[in-house]
Amino acid sequence: MKVAVFSTKPYDEQFLGQASRDSQEHELVFLEPRLNTTTAALAKGFDAVCVFVNDQVDGAVLEQLAEGGTRAVALRCAGFNNVDLKAAERLGIDVVRVPAYSPYAVAEHTVALILTLNRQIHRAYHRIRDGNFALDGLLGFDLRGRTVGVVGTGQIGLEVVRIMRGFGCRVLCHDLHTNPEAQQLGGEYVALDDLFSQADIVSLHCPLTPDTHHLINADAVAKMKQGVMLINTSRGAMVDTAAIIEGLKSGQIGYLGLDVYEEEGDLFFEDLSNIVLKDDVFARLLTFPNVVITGHQAFFTRNALESIARTTLGNLTELESTGQCANRVTAPAG
Ligand code: NAD
Repeated sequence: MKVAVFSTKPYDEQFLGQASRDSQEHELVFLEPRLNTTTAALAKGFDAVCVFVNDQVDGAVLEQLAEGGTRAVALRCAGFNNVDLKAAERLGIDVVRVPAYSPYAVAEHTVALILTLNRQIHRAYHRIRDGNFALDGLLGFDLRGRTVGVVGTGQIGLEVVRIMRGFGCRVLCHDLHTNPEAQQLGGEYVALDDLFSQADIVSLHCPLTPDTHHLINADAVAKMKQGVMLINTSRGAMVDTAAIIEGLKSGQIGYLGLDVYEEEGDLFFEDLSNIVLKDDVFARLLTFPNVVITGHQAFFTRNALESIARTTLGNLTELESTGQCANRVTAPAG
């Protein structure tokens, strides 16, 4: 297939380009712009587009793609909340994704945020470079014996359970479905409110759906332990950022680690260091000493990128040769 790759960064070109040369399949054209109604015209004449988390794949964009002859959208990520699946189905456009590449990458980054926040590595780094060797303000706690709440125990959540059990934590789990592997590791399934009221650390690993949108709101924060650590490496809109800021100001939230942000589409993956930050909510988050934010990099390991590239091209090969794909995403019925 002739594939227009949107939102291309140098690493996308490196890994997708390598996978394409290895498989000798598909002709990839790398485009820097993000896919939206203005840039969709660039895909005219391409069989498929390859997109990432912040590309806009709504009804208007899909209509333009269909008019231009595009038959497939290949997501080079797991989440598909940015795609209007009903519109895609109506227009006869197949949507495929990479459901699993490296749950370890995201789980390990989650734990990196936990450890950084607890032991104040982000502050210690600057202090030492500034010749300040005082320890005041850097006091942490032993993870052993603490309670970690894992919301969403699919592939990534399961790895978080495994690692945190290794630290000697008690792990509470919440999911629509029980994962026997998480139970075998010692994870205890509880109602969400019980998880909120008992966990010292709450970590989110669900997909963004209408049900999980703002799952962490003012009510949820109020149910949590005073000084709780909240970690979100799933999708930004699972958290109501305004409620979190209030929680940080009151001390109800003692630590916040984010790899994703509700309005990240305007910020993440770009070098904006020479531009005035216009997002006042994001700017407020940056003022807290107990907040660590990374720019949607949890997936970003060599292993994950190799796997993403291989699966993305494999999905297109499968679609082209059989008209089907095991990694196809369809709109929920109704
Ligand atoms: P997965 O599908 O394996 O697991 C998701 C789990 O969430 C499932 O067990 C599902 O039953 C559960 N779930 C769904 N709705 C729920 C609800 N309302 N309440 C409780 N549980 C619910 O997915 P995964 O591979 O573990 O990925 C989880 C999420 O992590 C993805 O959807 C994606 O948004 C995010 N992600 C982020 C990055 C990153 O770089 N930050 C990378 C990959 C994935």
